[in-house]
Amino acid sequence: MSAQQWADQALQSFDAVVQATGGFRSRPGQRLMAEQVAQAFSQAQLGKIDADDEDAPPPARSIAVIQAGTGVGKSLAYSVPAIAMALERGTRVLISTATVALQEQLVAKDLPALAAHIAKPFRFALAKGRGRYVCKLKLERLAGGVGAPDDGGIPDDDLFAEEEAAERARRPRAESEASMKFYASMADALSRGQWDGDRDTLATPPEAEVWSPVGAEASSCTGKHCPMFSQCTYYERRKELVAAQVIVANHDLLLSSLGARLLPELDNCLLVIDEAHHLPATALDQFACEADLSRLTWIDKLASRALRIGQLVEVEEIADIPNDSSRLRATLQDAARLVMDIYGKALQPSKAEAGRSHAAPRHSTPYNHITRARVPNGMLPAELVEPLSQIAHHADGFLAALRAIAKALRSQIKDQPDDARRLSALYAQIGALAPRLESLHATASLLLQDAPEGAAPAAKWFTLETDGDYIVVKAHASPLLPGNTLRNHLWSAVRGAVLTSATLTSCGQFDFFLREAGLAGDEAVTTLEVASPFDYGLQGTLIATETRADPRDASAFTTEMVDALLSDLAMVESGALVLFTSREQMRQAVDALPTAMRGIVLVQNTLPRQQLLATHRERVANGEPSIIFGMQSFGEGLDLPGALCESLFITKLPFAPPDDPVGEARAEWLRGAGRDPFSELVVPATAIRLAQWAGRAIRTEEDHAHVYCYDKRLVRTGYGQRLLKGMPPFTLERRLA
Ligand code: SF4
Repeated sequence: MSAQQWADQALQSFDAVVQATGGFRSRPGQRLMAEQVAQAFSQAQLGKIDADDEDAPPPARSIAVIQAGTGVGKSLAYSVPAIAMALERGTRVLISTATVALQEQLVAKDLPALAAHIAKPFRFALAKGRGRYVCKLKLERLAGGVGAPDDGGIPDDDLFAEEEAAERARRPRAESEASMKFYASMADALSRGQWDGDRDTLATPPEAEVWSPVGAEASSCTGKHCPMFSQCTYYERRKELVAAQVIVANHDLLLSSLGARLLPELDNCLLVIDEAHHLPATALDQFACEADLSRLTWIDKLASRALRIGQLVEVEEIADIPNDSSRLRATLQDAARLVMDIYGKALQPSKAEAGRSHAAPRHSTPYNHITRARVPNGMLPAELVEPLSQIAHHADGFLAALRAIAKALRSQIKDQPDDARRLSALYAQIGALAPRLESLHATASLLLQDAPEGAAPAAKWFTLETDGDYIVVKAHASPLLPGNTLRNHLWSAVRGAVLTSATLTSCGQFDFFLREAGLAGDEAVTTLEVASPFDYGLQGTLIATETRADPRDASAFTTEMVDALLSDLAMVESGALVLFTSREQMRQAVDALPTAMRGIVLVQNTLPRQQLLATHRERVANGEPSIIFGMQSFGEGLDLPGALCESLFITKLPFAPPDDPVGEARAEWLRGAGRDPFSELVVPATAIRLAQWAGRAIRTEEDHAHVYCYDKRLVRTGYGQRLLKGMPPFTLERRLA
């Protein structure tokens, strides 16, 4: 079949699904998007190429970047052509999203509906990181009496009985018992078939420190050598993934499992990246690293475990572990001291920061004082080069010994299946701490990296955390340009992809997103903008309110803005959403609320998100006014149609927080190259955020809403006009506060 025939057939499937289902409405924009998806995927040449044929042209790649406005129905427009073509071509579809909400919508609603309407049968599955599943071997150990308080069941040959007993003794007895009970209840529920081993299906989500000792992490798993392999929850899920033609994952998993063979091979699948505007930030997060320079007891623990296990399995490479571990520890202490000598002043918490710990709202994460000192231009001070080189060197040596032990253990498990349980448990003992060593090595290496002439250096910084009497110095490093990272790690492997979102253009152009995503100048890329079917001019009014105070004067502006906001909120009769740019700004608005209004305002973090939204829906359904106060995370992905959001309040333009070290380092690099970071970076990124925020107002063809913006820079400045261009074309009204 030719590429055009594949595309035609995929479109026929799309038309058939739309016609066959009353629930799916035909929309010209949606069909246009489906056409583009079908064309893009039909052009991609998938699968292995003949490596011996030097004259063969490189395989054809095809990547469609599609902005589809709210209401286009993009999930149907990409999923039907992609699935129909994958089934025809004998390949698979991988859909990656940024949010759990969209994953749930795809897996629980959209894909089951499509499975009933697409002619050929297909299976779909949700892929999660392996740490979301329980490791039965670890659970057996923790729940089965080994490690229990006063337990008599520790086997004589258990190498770590003493270590574990000492650890238990250090923990409060009640805490130890509560964990034990929790592990026992999980093991019981698993054995009765009442729980499937997925952390997300537990009735009460466990704290990270309780869950992590039983997570099915790769570093502690011997895979097919494990005695529980045939009943392993994680490997059972993997079998479902292998059998599925459509796999839904998230951007984190997509990037973290590159080369790990968990997801379909990128050169042999059709990749859809929804909520693609998040991809660049996820890439930076994935490839950033950090290392704790202060809390080092884990190094001795890992060295002691490695030595004892290494002796047991007769690995020669352990000879250097005592030297590597003690040098590592000493050099880390030196490095922490040097960081304090060099950056101590910058790392002192200010009085304002010291006071903030008392201002943290209920239900928020406990506030620790964190101060930061960034390394200008990525040029590490000379004094730190030697200790960091030593850290990288000794971590490398230590890691090599661990790899040798892991190899020997796997080989012994294979040769002595009767001893597999004990040997696998030893493997897990090393695997529990080895990732810290890897992270230390990666951080030291990236900190030491010098950028070639003209290239962007890595962002590098140190932090000091004080939590009560505890003081922790950490080192951090991150790539600066997400585009380079994505080009090297993702696009070099992908053959056919569709990237989509309601906000990919900024100020009306794709350039910024293409640069950030590493696709600028890529000849395989096509772009398409599909307008929303909504009549924004008729359905929405943007009321630009001009304060006397300059929004850059935070104190005067917030006072004036809060006054104007409160008088507008007094008019609210149904659902409303107020978006703030900082916690402090939101706190001031909450403090200023008159008593009569307090009962109708729901403040982010004072209730769990789902509960807050359920309360809002209930009140609006009862005909009562209900106002949500939220920050950035409420400005995206929140679907409040109809009366749930008839008024949207944007208190200030959502510029990125000023204390982002990667953003700061990038701005510094651009300035050094004679470029303007505000125009090139800040305005386009803000435009995408603002368009997302404004997108909360109109969700269906029937909605009508008022959008209030209190930041006069939107209508008074040149860059404000650029931002305005990226917003839905509401009818504009201007007024004075
Ligand atoms: S196969 Fe790996 S994850 Fe599964 S039970 Fe065994 S060690 Fe745990």
